[in-house]
Order: sequence, then structure tokens, then C-alpha cells
Amino acid sequence: MRVLIFGPPGVGKGTQAKILSEELGVPHISTGDMLRAAAAGGTDLGRKAKAIMDTGNLVPDDIMIGIVREVLASARAARGFILDGFPRTLPQAKALSRIFEDLHIREFAVVDISVDDDEIIRRLSNRLVCLKDGRIFNADTDGLAMGAPCPLCGTPLTHRDDDKEQTVRERLKVYHSTTAPVIHYYTVSGAVLSVDGTGPVDAVSRAIRLMLRDSHPT
Ligand code: AMP
Repeated sequence: MRVLIFGPPGVGKGTQAKILSEELGVPHISTGDMLRAAAAGGTDLGRKAKAIMDTGNLVPDDIMIGIVREVLASARAARGFILDGFPRTLPQAKALSRIFEDLHIREFAVVDISVDDDEIIRRLSNRLVCLKDGRIFNADTDGLAMGAPCPLCGTPLTHRDDDKEQTVRERLKVYHSTTAPVIHYYTVSGAVLSVDGTGPVDAVSRAIRLMLRDSHPT
């Protein structure tokens, strides 16, 4: 199973991608997680990417396309994947089509999760992450606070630097102007599975599962 998962920042893409990845037994490939790992590792790419991410803007297409080409061609992705955070621009979408052609990938599903902007700003100000295992928690609903140990591995939970309100507003602007049109690229060539991301995590994942089951992958 190959799935591209779309939606604005904070819609729950990462959470849903992780659930799907466990259910389907295929890797969750998140370009944001890859960039954050590079930043935590202090690599040259990581330092450059972090400076861009902290402003809410996008890392240049050529860098992202190179990263994704390499990971999709690797043995790790051979049996399928959940791709989260890519493509985010039209040139990335076109490059992904070429990568799929080179890898003889013809069938994939596109899931688009939506939630309105006010709810997103509220959610992201409550978001806590574990930088070790990438798990995401909600300060309110999970009853956790900044610095509390990750329930799974004990690493202190933290806020993402780009979850500050001003940066979130910039990320939403970039999403609406640059990434949302990419959905159209897939709508014209096949079915996009549109999911309302407003409800509880379980309800959203059930909706995604049912849609994927009933769909004929594009
Ligand atoms: P995410 O975790 O998917 O919200 O990504 C966090 C940040 O990483 C984004 O705001 C961008 O700065 C950067 N990023 C992740 N994926 C991409 C991509 N496909 N193209 C450009 N920038 C990206």
C-alpha cells in the first residue's frame, strides 16, 4: 500500500500516518521528521533546514526532491509507504510523478485531511512532541505538560520551535497558497479521499481506513 497524506500543519497528518503505518505494516516517511532529525544531528543540511523551518517557510524543492527520491528508492520503502509532508509544491508533485515512473509505481492513494485554521492554531499551541520517537501528544487531552516524560520512552516532551503562533500563521499561509493547489494535481488524475479531521483521532483513523478499503487506488 502506498499512500500520500495531505493536510494543513496540525491537522493530524503525522498521527494518522503513524497509525496507518502500523496497521498496514509499511514505513511512515515524514519529510518534516527527516529534516528535524538532520537538524538534531547538526548536519549542514539540518542547520540550513532548521533556519527555514523556524520561519514557517519551505525548504527548497531540489533538496526535498533529492531526499525523497533516495528514501523511496531504498529497500525500506520497497513494500509500500505512507508519505507525509511531500509533495508540498507543484514542482515536487511533478518530480514525484517522475520518481514513481522510474520506480514503476502505478498505484497509490491520496488522503486529504482538513480542519479549519482557528482549530489548527488552538491544537498546535497544545502540541507536545517526543524528539526521540516522534510521538505527538496533546497537553490538554493527554494531561501532559512541557518537560513531562514521554509515556513511551521517557524523553522529556517539548514544543516544536515552529509551533509558535506567528510561525503557525505563516505555515498556514504557505499551505493555502502553495500546498493546497497540489491537491488539484491529484484530483485531475484520480480520486482524492477527503477526510474531515475535526473529530477524535480514532474516528478520523476509522474514516481513513474505510475510505482506503473502499477506494480503488489511483
Ligand atoms: P511538517 O513536520 O511536515 O509540518 O514539516 C515541518 C517543516 O519542514 C515545514 O514547515 C517545512 O519548513 C519543512 N518541510 C517538510 N516537508 C517539506 C517539503 N516537502 N518541502 C519543503 N519543506 C518541507
